[in-house]
Amino acid sequence: MELRSLIRLVPDFPKPGILFRDMTPLLQDPTGFRVAIEQLAAGTTGMGSLDYIVGIESRGFILGAALAQHLGLGFVPVRKPGKLPPPVLSQRYSLEYGEDELQLRAHALRPGERVLIVDDLIATGGTAAATAELVAQTGAEVGGFAFLIELAFLPGCKALPAGIPTHVLMVEE
Ligand code: 5GP
Repeated sequence: MELRSLIRLVPDFPKPGILFRDMTPLLQDPTGFRVAIEQLAAGTTGMGSLDYIVGIESRGFILGAALAQHLGLGFVPVRKPGKLPPPVLSQRYSLEYGEDELQLRAHALRPGERVLIVDDLIATGGTAAATAELVAQTGAEVGGFAFLIELAFLPGCKALPAGIPTHVLMVEE
């Protein structure tokens, strides 16, 4: 199954000059969605034992929740500010222009637990790196990262902490 054919390329969205990868056709295709989750799951072998999937708002929720069910793991959301009720942990990170922030429920993870961080796409890597920092704040360990798409012309995976396995289904050159 060629998953790439289920990703729609949208020029100039959300801003001029950006070629947006839209994964909603893949989600709409039951076989494509199932194969994507199976392939993401296959990439976790070799990551050691995992306790939770940590999914990043919002497309990471869809993939992460399905993957968590597939693997028999729990799901922990990382959200944009003001969405999770207190107490929360926060992590600020740099964008191309300005800053953003992500939050995690304060007691969602415990020291020693191991998680897989999931998102649909890694571009600069800032979002996934900030999520790894949030996990580190709890004392839990990042056992791996998984993405549907990597934009390989950006330094994404290099922005992630060294030595942690990263599984990507589609690398865009
Ligand atoms: P980064 O922090 O790695 O620069 O950006 C990754 C985040 O931006 C992810 O949460 C991802 O959902 C979103 N993102 C950036 N570009 C695209 C795109 O072309 N398609 C989709 N679906 N998400 C994108």
